[in-house]
Amino acid sequence: MDKPLKALTYMTRFRCIGPECEDHCCQSWRIHLDRDDYLRLQKCRKKSPVVNQHFAAAVQRNQDSDSSQKHYAFLNFRPEDGHCFFEQSGLCAIHRDFGEAALPKTCATYPRMTRVYGDFYEQGGSLSCPEVARECLLKADAMELVDWDWSHLTQLDIAPGSDGNDFFGIYAQQVRDAFIGLYRLSGYNNEERTYFTLYLARKISSFFSREVTVDPERRLKRAFSQLQDPVFRGRIRSNMDDSGEPRELSTNFLAMILLIPGKKVRYNDLVARVFASYEGTAELDLKDPADPTRPLLVVWPAYRERLATLNKLYGKRIDMYFGNFCRNFWYEEHLKDAPDPLSYVAQLILFFAVVKFLFFSHPNLVPLLTGEVEEEAAQELLDRTIVEVVQVFMRSYTHNAGFKQYIRKAMRMPEMQDLAELTSLLSF
Ligand code: SF4
Repeated sequence: MDKPLKALTYMTRFRCIGPECEDHCCQSWRIHLDRDDYLRLQKCRKKSPVVNQHFAAAVQRNQDSDSSQKHYAFLNFRPEDGHCFFEQSGLCAIHRDFGEAALPKTCATYPRMTRVYGDFYEQGGSLSCPEVARECLLKADAMELVDWDWSHLTQLDIAPGSDGNDFFGIYAQQVRDAFIGLYRLSGYNNEERTYFTLYLARKISSFFSREVTVDPERRLKRAFSQLQDPVFRGRIRSNMDDSGEPRELSTNFLAMILLIPGKKVRYNDLVARVFASYEGTAELDLKDPADPTRPLLVVWPAYRERLATLNKLYGKRIDMYFGNFCRNFWYEEHLKDAPDPLSYVAQLILFFAVVKFLFFSHPNLVPLLTGEVEEEAAQELLDRTIVEVVQVFMRSYTHNAGFKQYIRKAMRMPEMQDLAELTSLLSF
């Protein structure tokens, strides 16, 4: 390759666990094949009776007249269990018989995400994979960017990078680095650091967006340097303190994402278990379109009590989970896909609020509220719970075009640009 490769530390440790995986990726996901993928599978078909037997059912040509090379065909899944036809007892027959190089690009590269960033390529991972979620969320050094060797990758699918000739493209990397730098500030918790990113995003979005035609360099530098000043940060920080009761609109946003109808089986099941863990919720209708925020408002006082108790007992470790989750967002989601930094940070805050609510409300953690569970057992429960919550939510989001569109639509609502609403959502 023309430039060196760097990877987030957790991706240098990641190994697919195949049949041991609790939410195998070879299922319920539209996997597009480009023409090269398709031809490679055809070659495997000629050499393998298993591949040949399933080929016709598994691989479907895209008949659209404008079907691009990239969307030349796609993989079908078995109707009885939703798994890929080539999957045999948790193992992929193509991977087993022909190696990773024969796989379609999406299968070979998932959950790795590689992008060009200025002078190098960088690799992060998708938290929709349970093993990536474990490596990313549970280790303090997971988010360090380190040198990595191209020989670790057998196939490559480069996602769009930060580059571009417009001002949004030219400064995107610099802006992202400034935001990630805020997550390295010591003496603050993840909520405070995320509030600083909200402040900065709001400040720069008026002169740094997709629409910008004037070079924003001077104003960007001034905004970045302001936030380096601890006295200035202290003043901003004090604005968070009067958030009090949740605001109606922010509760509405959270309810929209938590109580989304549809067939996201693991996600809908997780949300139902979470609400059922609170007393007095047996009669609650989680799908009542006339009063969508009621379930959240009913459990809110008990939720805040759980959150305060668990933070008091295990705050340091919990803060690491959320810090890594938020930092990974800057690698997993692309700043240039958003119209401006404020819309981007609004999505981060929405995701953080969803994950935070599901985590602190999870029935796994109820026994910890007494403070009497042994440290090692408590950590095992906390670790397992954050991995489940993050992975299930991110799988529903990344592998489900409808859910993605639904969230993007919510993000376009003008209220999602309101500082008071976003602060309330962040503190929910
Ligand atoms: S989701 Fe991750 S760990 Fe599970 S099978 Fe896929 S790549 Fe492997």
